[in-house]
Amino acid sequence: MICLGIESTAHTFGIGIVSDKGHILANVSSIYVPERGGIHPREAAQHHAAVAKKTLERALAKAKVRINEVNLVSFAAGPGLGPALRTGATAARAISSFFNIPLLAVNHCVSHVEIGRLATGAKDPVTLYVSGGNTQVIAFEAGRYRVFGETLDIPVGNCLDVFAREVGLPSPGGPQVERLARKGKHYIALPYVVKGMDLSFSGLMTEAVRKHRAGGDLYDLCHSLQETAFAALVEVTERAVAHTEKKEVMLTGGVAANKRLREMLRLMAGEHEARFFVPSMGLCQDNGPMIAWTGILAYKHGVRQRLEDTVVNQRWRVDEVNIPWR
Ligand code: AMP
Ligand code: MG
Repeated sequence: MICLGIESTAHTFGIGIVSDKGHILANVSSIYVPERGGIHPREAAQHHAAVAKKTLERALAKAKVRINEVNLVSFAAGPGLGPALRTGATAARAISSFFNIPLLAVNHCVSHVEIGRLATGAKDPVTLYVSGGNTQVIAFEAGRYRVFGETLDIPVGNCLDVFAREVGLPSPGGPQVERLARKGKHYIALPYVVKGMDLSFSGLMTEAVRKHRAGGDLYDLCHSLQETAFAALVEVTERAVAHTEKKEVMLTGGVAANKRLREMLRLMAGEHEARFFVPSMGLCQDNGPMIAWTGILAYKHGVRQRLEDTVVNQRWRVDEVNIPWR
């Protein structure tokens, strides 16, 4: 069985082609880069519509698969930006109905965890999913992926990106902050906000920008921003590990590229005698294969949807999805 998965929740239009043996035959994407400022939903959607056909052709060519060999089409129906989601949904529906292939809408966050499990061999991890649009600590309990902690305001990737933009660093900000943080020498106290199991990064971001405007050293501020934000992420992940007694920790999402965050999580996992996993970056970032693979898991476990069931949902939470394959 071969599934073609479409990812379009934010800036990435991705197509993945995956077999039910878990072989990733193609992982092709095109990323919308705003000329300046943050991501504009309508412009992202226009980008996705413009590249859809070419990306599909590239994916089929890469996989050496003809469209009539595809047995299932899946797409990310949320959470994400409405216009971007609808573009992916439209592409998926068009392929499904024109070629008469079954269609499944899958959840973006579930898909990040599932491709991570496939790629790393982790069986039952506590997952820290950190990206430009999401920040959640997720673990499987009682038939669903449960959220053990999440941001109450902005995602951590967005915190790094907006800080970088405000202090004049190029986009995307995360890698720039990481680069400058290596030269930071002094820790500057910044707001550390953990509320119960939840996190908050907007006050941290605002205060870091304010301290820069007040003449604070940029290297020290990048270092301090990372240390503060990542310590909060590790604290919440650690409590989820302690609570669930799971023996695996997985890091995914675009912010997983950060070496300091990896190091901090690896240390924490070690203290709990848990194994630590990070998928390759191509599968941490938003990607088509994660959507295709989740489609396969769902389909093989009896999930079926009619066309009218495949509506997008900007706020579709990971813990609303039944997981019959686990
Ligand atoms: P995604 O939303 O999953 O596509 O990931 C994009 C986010 O990851 C953006 O917020 C980037 O700034 C962030 N990011 C990418 N590389 C790094 C890095 N090395 N350190 C921190 N954040 C990063
Ligand atoms: Mg994502």
